[in-house]
Amino acid sequence: MTSIRSIKGFKDILPGETELWQSIEQTATAVLGAFGFREIRLPILEKTELFARSIGEATDIVEKEMYTFSDRSGDLVTMRPEATAAVVRAYLQHKVYAQDPVQKYYTIGPMFRRERPQKGRYRQFYQINAEIFGVASPYADVQLIVMLVELLRRLGVTDAKPHVNSLGCPACRPDYRRALLDFLASREDRLCPDCLRRRETNPLRILDCKVPRCRETSLEAPELSAFLCPECRTHFDTLQQSLDELGISYLIDKRLVRGLDYYSRTTFEIQTTALGAQSAVAGGGRYDGLVKTLGGPDIPATGFAIGFDRLAEIVAAERQIETAVPAVFIAALGASAQARAFPWLTALNRRGIAAEMLFEDKSLKSLMKRAGKLGARYVLIVGENEMTAGTGQLRNMETHEQTPLDLDRVIEDLQQRFRESG
Ligand code: AMP
Repeated sequence: MTSIRSIKGFKDILPGETELWQSIEQTATAVLGAFGFREIRLPILEKTELFARSIGEATDIVEKEMYTFSDRSGDLVTMRPEATAAVVRAYLQHKVYAQDPVQKYYTIGPMFRRERPQKGRYRQFYQINAEIFGVASPYADVQLIVMLVELLRRLGVTDAKPHVNSLGCPACRPDYRRALLDFLASREDRLCPDCLRRRETNPLRILDCKVPRCRETSLEAPELSAFLCPECRTHFDTLQQSLDELGISYLIDKRLVRGLDYYSRTTFEIQTTALGAQSAVAGGGRYDGLVKTLGGPDIPATGFAIGFDRLAEIVAAERQIETAVPAVFIAALGASAQARAFPWLTALNRRGIAAEMLFEDKSLKSLMKRAGKLGARYVLIVGENEMTAGTGQLRNMETHEQTPLDLDRVIEDLQQRFRESG
């Protein structure tokens, strides 16, 4: 019978990798905490309507990529493809804004999109999301970008480069949309089938189409920056000045429209070349209209998502994470030594000391081999002779030095030794 494998695009994260994920998570929560963000934990399953209304019906995610199904009562539910919509839902559902509209949240967890699996792209992937509610100022956007740069710096990613753009707002974007559509009307023969369709539904997406002919065509398209209303212009100028003042180098990327409908004004991505080709490790932007679209008051907001899988791949390429090894391996030879040693093992474990033992009757040679494989720093050897003498042998696996150890004081002795040596 063939064994069952995981679903295509879904992957396991095994010990050896999880240490890296934990370490990134610790750094991320430390940085997020210092910038005043608090954790929010949300369900994975939401009503389909939430994403259709927020991300936009005519986006790749909603059109082609969501894991949507009707549950046993016939309700249409979706495994979240992103976190922002759900964070907004929670912010509204619990009327958090009524006490204080200004909230800074972060959340870490899996997202689901049925994309074409390829290197670095999965159907279940993980994100670290941060959202700021209730702040219209461009400084909130800058704060997010600075926080991302700082996090990546701490993780040893040295070439992280923010790309920024402004998408305008409902006051100025329609003018641009019209100008873009006029331009595209004369270029129909140069657009890919996807872009021809996008023209009707989401023409801005044509600017970030990856098909070479579309890219060439869109180079000649009118620029959104020329259409920004005075408020959007000031917002974008202040953002740039602030980044300049903070000494953060960035790139203005006129193609940065991003794949979700809800963005307004600032959009940004953090690009790196750490994995070969340039790619975005994080992306985000301002979504001033979303809280209202989802039935709430008119509250501005801004946020980002870091691709955890990609971040882990980048960090893994740059540094070695030490995996945890046992402080001591108890090599108990024979049934009576095992019976005596097992309570020591559990006592050490309960005191927070990584101790290991093999519950099998094996030769000293194979027990030592096992200890070596686990990378144990010490081995406590207890056989019949040691039991009779009341003294075990503690072997330092690095120096091969052996010291006698009073078997009546194993726990106290080892506890003291490992507390001292950390
Ligand atoms: P988005 O939510 O599309 O703005 O994506 C934000 C970040 O999440 C991207 O920059 C990627 O690093 C990561 N990401 C998005 N989709 C995937 C995927 N299918 N697999 C792995 N990472 C992804």
